Amino acid sequence: MQQLPPSQWTELADLIGQCMDYDSAFRPSCRSIIRQLNSLITSDYVILHAAEPVTQSPMSIAVNPAPYDHTLFEERHLCYISPLGKGNFGCVELCRYDPLGDNTGELVAVKKLQPNKGPNLEDFQKEVKTLSVLHCDYIVKYRGVCYSMGRLSMSLVMEYLPYGSLNGYVWTNRHNITTRRMLLFASQICKGMEYLQTLRYIHRDLAARNVLVANDSLVKIADFGLTKVLPFDKEYYRLSQPGQSPLFW
Ligand code: ADP
Ligand code: MG
Repeated sequence: MQQLPPSQWTELADLIGQCMDYDSAFRPSCRSIIRQLNSLITSDYVILHAAEPVTQSPMSIAVNPAPYDHTLFEERHLCYISPLGKGNFGCVELCRYDPLGDNTGELVAVKKLQPNKGPNLEDFQKEVKTLSVLHCDYIVKYRGVCYSMGRLSMSLVMEYLPYGSLNGYVWTNRHNITTRRMLLFASQICKGMEYLQTLRYIHRDLAARNVLVANDSLVKIADFGLTKVLPFDKEYYRLSQPGQSPLFW
């Protein structure tokens, strides 16, 4: 008889083990199974530890308390509204996080990996981790993560910037956008990049498509999918592996 491979998620494996007990008296009740599954899905597991590189597979992730205020969004409360955009790797959707189910929840932008495109889950975890430690008025705000398919898949939850990407905004407003406003945006992008530089981050993909417009007088840098950290003993970043890097910022 063929056996299922053992689950690496030990708490889940333990629960499955309990359900398979030969003695029915020792099997958990349906109510208890649901309670335990819920606690596994919404417990304080943290896959992103700000101080550690994320190198583990999603199923072997340590149960570490986060050193920063992280938020776990529950998939069942994230209500899809519309697509916001697609880049080379991810697709971003407008959703309402509506735990009360009465349409009063806040709007958020949710980024997922496009299947079989570019980076793997580990790269995506790095992007999430990078954004989670950035706190600057000119950088899109991290809100949290949302797990799906148990914990095999993950989405990045960000603040929603209603005017979308800067390239679209500039095109739509090409007849009335002033030089003064363009300079304001340019100075905000510079401030965001200056902040990144103080943390030794190199964005590597700065482009109008990756700058988002919050309102007519505020833009924010987004898309940290290609971002790297400059080691302390290095003065500049040297591309060592052939890979996707449209601009070498
Ligand atoms: P990729 O890594 O695939 O390039 P991006 O993070 O650049 O993904 O997002 C793709 C597009 O989705 C952006 O160019 C923008 O139009 C839209 N988008 C991304 N994040 C947001 C957001 N927080 N609010 C509104 N639109 C967004
Ligand atoms: Mg992009």
